[in-house]
Amino acid sequence: MSLSAAEDRRIRALRPPKPRVDPEVAHGSLVEDERRPDGRVERALTVFLAGAECPFTCTFCDLWRYTIEGSTPAGALTRQLRRVLDQHRGAAIQRIKLYNASNFFDPRAVPLADLEAIASLCASFGGVTVESHVNTVGARTLDFARRIAGRLEVAVGLETIHPIAASKLNKKLDLARFADAARFLHDNGIDLRVFVLLGAPHVPVEESVEWTVRAVEHAAEQGAAVVSIIPVRAGNGEVDRLQALGDFTPPTLAQLEEALESCVGIAGTVVTADLWDAERLPGCDTCRAARVARLQLMNVGGRREPRVACASCGAA
Ligand code: SF4
Ligand SMILES: [Zn+2]
Repeated sequence: MSLSAAEDRRIRALRPPKPRVDPEVAHGSLVEDERRPDGRVERALTVFLAGAECPFTCTFCDLWRYTIEGSTPAGALTRQLRRVLDQHRGAAIQRIKLYNASNFFDPRAVPLADLEAIASLCASFGGVTVESHVNTVGARTLDFARRIAGRLEVAVGLETIHPIAASKLNKKLDLARFADAARFLHDNGIDLRVFVLLGAPHVPVEESVEWTVRAVEHAAEQGAAVVSIIPVRAGNGEVDRLQALGDFTPPTLAQLEEALESCVGIAGTVVTADLWDAERLPGCDTCRAARVARLQLMNVGGRREPRVACASCGAA
C-alpha cells in the first residue's frame, strides 16, 4: 500500500458513522445574492446534490457525510435537479451552482450519460458553477463548458498556501498544479472560484488570519473571479484528533471578520466569507447575529461595514 493510501485509510478510520443519504433527493437549495468582479449582483441558486463520495481524503473535509456509498446511479442527479428547479420556477435567477460534495468531473460522481441532461436543465442560467478538485479539471471540463448555454465556472479548493500545513492536508495538490489549472480555465474562457480555509490545521493560530489572507491574495493573482473563505469545522474525526494534539484550533467569528476585512480592496476578485455554519463558530452569542448580518452585507457590497459594538463581549 502506498503512503498516501495508508494515510487515506487512517483518516477514514477516524470518521464517525456516515448518515444514510438518498441518491434520489437533493440535500437542499439556497438562493442568495452574489457579487461578481464587474460589480453586478446576481441571484444565485445553489443546489446541494447527493451523489458519490470524493476519492480524495483531505484531512479537514466533512463533505463525505453528504454522499452515498458507491457510484451515483445514472439519472439520479437529473431527477434531483429537476425537482429543485421546479421549486424555483419563474424566479429571476442568473446563476446555478451545482455542489455535489465531490468532483463534478469524476464520472463516478456525475455519470457521463447525465451530462447532456444536466446541461440542458441549466440552459436558462447565464452562469453555471460546479466544484472539482484541481486534478480532475481537464478535457471533461471543456466538454461540459461546450454543452451548457451559459458560462462555466469551476470552484476548486486551494485551502492554504502555508507550506507545512499544505503538505499535511492530504489534498494531493501543489501550487504549480493549481497554477496550471487556473491557466487552463482562463485560456478556455472558464471562470475560477476558489475555496480558502480559515483555521487550516498546522497553521499556528496566531498566524491563522494572515495565512488565510495570503491564500486569498494568491488565488486572486491566479485570476480567481470569486474566493470564498471557509472556516474549518471539527467533527470529522481527524480534525478532532488534530485539535487534541494542539494542531488545530477552531476558527472564531471574530477571525472570520478580520480575514474578510483584510481582503476588502483586493482588485478584480470578489472575496466572501462562507456563513453556512456561522452560528457554530466560537463567538459572543449576544452580538453573533449582528456580526453575521454585517458579514452578509460585506459579502454582497464588498465594502467595509461599521463594526458591531457589544456590551457583553466588550467589542467596540
Ligand atoms: S477534494 Fe474536496 S470533497 Fe474531496 S476530500 Fe478534499 S475537500 Fe473533500
Ligand atoms: Zn458580543
